[in-house]
Amino acid sequence: MTLKIYRDPSSASNPHLFFTKHVTIDWTIDFNRQVLSGYCILHLVANETPAKSSDFIILDTREINVKNVSFEDLKLNFEFGEKNFVGQPLKISLSNIPNLDSIKELALKIEYETSRDASALQWFEPKTTLGKKYPYLFSQCQAIHARSILPCQDTPMVKFTYEASVSVQKPLTVLMSAINTGKEETSETIRHKFAQNIKIPSYLIAIVSGDLVSSDLGPISRVWTEREMIERCAWEFADVDKMVKEAESLAGEYVWGRYDILVLPPTFPYGGMENPCLTFVTPTLIAGDRSLVSVIQHEIAHSWTGNLVTNCSWEHFWLNEGFTKFLENKLVGINQKSELFRQFECIDGWRCLVEAVKDFGDKSPLTQLVCPLDQVDPDDAFSSIPYEKGHSLLFYLEQILGGTEVFNKYLRAHIERFKGLSIDTNDWKQFLYEYFSDKVYFPTNCFKKFQRSSFEFKSGELAVDWNAWLNTPGMPPVVLKFDETLANQVKNLTEKLTNEEIVEKETIFDKFSSDQKRELVSQLLNQEPLSCSKIDSLNKYYKFGETQNSEILFRWIRLCIKAKWEPILQPALKFVTDQGRMKFTRPVYKDLYAWNFSRQAAIDTFLKERDCMHKTTASLVAKDLNISS
Ligand SMILES: [Zn+2]
Repeated sequence: MTLKIYRDPSSASNPHLFFTKHVTIDWTIDFNRQVLSGYCILHLVANETPAKSSDFIILDTREINVKNVSFEDLKLNFEFGEKNFVGQPLKISLSNIPNLDSIKELALKIEYETSRDASALQWFEPKTTLGKKYPYLFSQCQAIHARSILPCQDTPMVKFTYEASVSVQKPLTVLMSAINTGKEETSETIRHKFAQNIKIPSYLIAIVSGDLVSSDLGPISRVWTEREMIERCAWEFADVDKMVKEAESLAGEYVWGRYDILVLPPTFPYGGMENPCLTFVTPTLIAGDRSLVSVIQHEIAHSWTGNLVTNCSWEHFWLNEGFTKFLENKLVGINQKSELFRQFECIDGWRCLVEAVKDFGDKSPLTQLVCPLDQVDPDDAFSSIPYEKGHSLLFYLEQILGGTEVFNKYLRAHIERFKGLSIDTNDWKQFLYEYFSDKVYFPTNCFKKFQRSSFEFKSGELAVDWNAWLNTPGMPPVVLKFDETLANQVKNLTEKLTNEEIVEKETIFDKFSSDQKRELVSQLLNQEPLSCSKIDSLNKYYKFGETQNSEILFRWIRLCIKAKWEPILQPALKFVTDQGRMKFTRPVYKDLYAWNFSRQAAIDTFLKERDCMHKTTASLVAKDLNISS
């Protein structure tokens, strides 16, 4: 067994010597000190490069207090390397290990404790939870935060199974991104046990603990959240088993056993996180009308693209997110029983792409699909680009390679070919060429060359400008056309609202789907700023400010700020305080900062709230507001 090694500038680890195949975790959650303490055992396998006794096993860590490292009762020497933005490498010396050449497997036991500042963890005092009685903890390891909760080869090219045993004070619950395998109780504590028997990358390790309750949704799924929210959550996500079935019809068998959903506190920085067996989602999806469940479809799709077929490093993040966005939009079409709904989602995605490219600037390397990350924290590179530019590339290929049916078969073959592995863009492209070999023009002798693993594709084949798509900043080289039937219904109303005086609500508005209402506000936002009197009328007749749908409210707030409509200040500040989903919080903070009238209020609000925010969100908003940390 060997592991293919890729470049990963976000990890200091050296899996070319030994790579992880299994991890055993034993933690005690200490809510008083806000640390996880215990040990992990990394079960390592010798890779192709033989290790010498002068070598070190290098693991990624960040702010971890290592107490002891051992191999079969043999204490191993260790030291820390230099600290930088990817953490601090833990170097474990192999010099004590006898007969190193003959060792094929190596179980390293590391006793340690996390720090209060562990970047993967957010701890809540009881008073900041809904129930106000018990503390709460959740993790977010993507992209490179797993190293703050365990020393590990924190690179997605390495995948392993894991088992965990986690002790917590009664009556708190612990859940992980794994199957629950039982618990042991003492008078004071409960020890929860877990097993993840499918190989996963480190960023998919996840833990949550709190006064959680659950409600069954279907044969393989239940929703977990704080007691006070459970009924609303159970109603919102009632259709999840059906959605998993729809995804199976597209992507193949669902292999993870369970699909549970955890609805987190509002500071969770993302829409969702595809932790296996237990998707984490933001409570901003609870719209009261099931109108925002496409995020669940997205996370379900990750069960194949991302969790089974994984990007080998964050430079190839589009292989996770572009594919998943592509599947998500297809699933929206399947769920609504019409391709028109998929196309409608694509239009919104393209607009997000335009905005993200504008945001970074069209010369920024961060707008490349394959995104160079030397000296760049993957969190700083995070944007819609890998999602929407990646989606655009796949949408384009679907069109030129034979359409939906042909391409759906290819998608399944892609998953079948790479499941369980981590891949880079070249691996992906090589299989694409293999699969569509009848459609591809190959230069003479190319089939001979094709056998070589180092075969590089030349631009011009397949009439795709690969360099422009993959390695060039800015918008894609092709402007995609989508079916505009649903968008045009909205466009007519947008024009009317823009050009005519508003004296009442148009009846067609009530016939719109939630997504069309969202599109309406997007279209209004996408043009020249509206006048304040226009905003007054929209507010009076359309009541966008009262919606429970966070996507619509987000766009409405931005529309009002763009119009310099002063009454929006307090609702906007409340919006960025009530929830911390970065997709919403960062643009609204940036808009408030750009407007003289609201700049100081934005800064003051941030400084007051930053300690209650998620660490990742707080550090990025600080940058957006030019506040030093
Ligand atoms: Zn995703």
